Amino acid sequence: MDLLELIIEYHKDNERQGPGSQEATLKALGYIPYLDEPTKILDIGCGTGGQTITLAKNTAAQITAVDMLPQFLEKLMKKARENNLLDRITAKEMLMDNLVFEESSFDVIWSEGAIYNIGFEKGLSLWRKYLEDNGVIAVSEISWLTDTRPEEIEKYWVNAYPEIDTVENKLSVIEKCGYSSVAHFALDYECWIDNYYQPLMENAEAFLKRYDYADEVKEFIEQGKIEADMYNRYKDYYSYVFYIAKKE
Ligand code: SAH
Repeated sequence: MDLLELIIEYHKDNERQGPGSQEATLKALGYIPYLDEPTKILDIGCGTGGQTITLAKNTAAQITAVDMLPQFLEKLMKKARENNLLDRITAKEMLMDNLVFEESSFDVIWSEGAIYNIGFEKGLSLWRKYLEDNGVIAVSEISWLTDTRPEEIEKYWVNAYPEIDTVENKLSVIEKCGYSSVAHFALDYECWIDNYYQPLMENAEAFLKRYDYADEVKEFIEQGKIEADMYNRYKDYYSYVFYIAKKE
């Protein structure tokens, strides 16, 4: 069994596939004007659609949600159906670095816990053309909260994601890519633990059992535990930060 299959199976029944919360989505939405009008939102790397449903319930927008994994999109569409939102949400299987849309087709681009897959700078640059003039992007990205930090956590995250950087430097990247920053805020402990690591850890034992404690599954679960442990020990030094910015 390959790693992608493990990722899909371990994450698909969770509400979220990355740190976040309904409150954080709503806070970010609060910085975006005109959402009571029929605007168009593109939700990139939507996963099983935790934030997609929040966006649909709290705006009048038409939402296009894209992800590369059909297994996650199916879960999103199930939630859309249950919430009577099928007329407002369209799911599309698509790669985030190979989006197939007309230029200037969206008022808002949303992306929670996903842009790192192609890199923050690349994502911001590639996606800009799909926004209307004065369109807004809201994207969460792992960032250092302090100028310096213990070596252990520095090494861990630089190895996992070399583009991790300070909030100040992320804001510079935003400007460099042709946006002006509107607001930013860090995701709190609840977003990371209650909504992300905790449900995964609760499922770990059953998941191991299901795969008969195979070595590669043990290793996969172990890596997850290490990541959660790092967060518990070093949460003062990093978080996902939500960045809201306007196309210039
Ligand atoms: N926004 C969701 C999911 C975040 S996890 C949430 O916050 O809960 C990141 C998501 O990006 C996953 O669903 C994964 O399938 C998707 N993804 C990863 N690489 C991708 C790519 N190259 N193109 C499209 N989607 C991708």
